[in-house]
Amino acid sequence: MPIVVLKLPDVKVYAENRPRRCPSCKGEILQRWGGSMRTIRDHRVKEALVYRYRCTRCRHTFRHYPEGIDQAQQSQRLRKLAAICWTLGLSHRGIAAIFAIFGVGIAPMTAWRDVQEEAQQLRRRRIWKPVRVIGLDGAYVLGWGEKRPVLVAVDLGEGKPVAIGYVDEHNPDAVRRWLEPIVKRLGVSVIVTDDLLTYRGVAEKLGLEHQVCQFHVRRWVGKALHELQESLPQEWWWVLEEIKHLVAELPPEGGRHLFELWKQIPERRMGQEGVRSPLEQLRNLLIRMSEHWTSYRVFDWQKDVPWTNNGTEQIIGKMKVRSRTVRGYKTKSGMLAGLMLAGSGVC
Ligand SMILES: [Zn+2]
Repeated sequence: MPIVVLKLPDVKVYAENRPRRCPSCKGEILQRWGGSMRTIRDHRVKEALVYRYRCTRCRHTFRHYPEGIDQAQQSQRLRKLAAICWTLGLSHRGIAAIFAIFGVGIAPMTAWRDVQEEAQQLRRRRIWKPVRVIGLDGAYVLGWGEKRPVLVAVDLGEGKPVAIGYVDEHNPDAVRRWLEPIVKRLGVSVIVTDDLLTYRGVAEKLGLEHQVCQFHVRRWVGKALHELQESLPQEWWWVLEEIKHLVAELPPEGGRHLFELWKQIPERRMGQEGVRSPLEQLRNLLIRMSEHWTSYRVFDWQKDVPWTNNGTEQIIGKMKVRSRTVRGYKTKSGMLAGLMLAGSGVC
């Protein structure tokens, strides 16, 4: 596990600067208008001095908070720490127990709110940031005693999740409905996925470039070739070698090459009902790979596109680890927000 550097906000007892401008009218002439001591929940700072100011132009009065403090009773540092403890695997009750050791009393429900707030902030920070390439993958996470399908979208540039939803990746309409607003909002132009048929259709409908994870392709093609080696007449084994070579090299003209191979294999009528002969299976493999060839090698001419969907799988791994130990989610949206936070890591 990598060493984690925790960046926590500083917390000050009093503000070191005066406010520059009125938050309401941007006026610059401000009068101090009294102040008061506030009780703060934090492991070090227990009280803070908060001044009020009054704008001479619009007469608006407002509080000017010291660094790390706002209208909430907990310091920003403590809230952040609660969220970090949670992503590292503590329960809300566990967080409250740890804080109690440092003389800070909070209720488990407060820890839950802190986690949700951090997830919200994460969402706000991400929402307007354009993302050109996203990875998509489905997973099952535990919640309320059952496994539920979720779909996760990951910014493959930064390696951070950008969206998660209760969507079954095997349902093309559901995937498209969920993905379309994300694509529009973030300006996505490429998706990276495994070789599931759903994603092909969705990429086409939404006008996206599509890179298929080459680990997946190598796995299923390797398996298919292995099976054909067992059943195919030896005179055709050279075709298997050609395919193996093409998958390893991924040349630009590979799709054409596969198509030429396909034409060389005689078409046979099916033997028994529904049973494909090995030669027929080889033909299917060739035509399928030929048609999909462009989606195997987008990474070759678009430098920010990875050739596998590993980045997405790693983030889903983090989410799964967290979801296994979570008890007592209050809401379904809260669970998704928590998983986003877990997938984002602590820093
Ligand atoms: Zn003003």
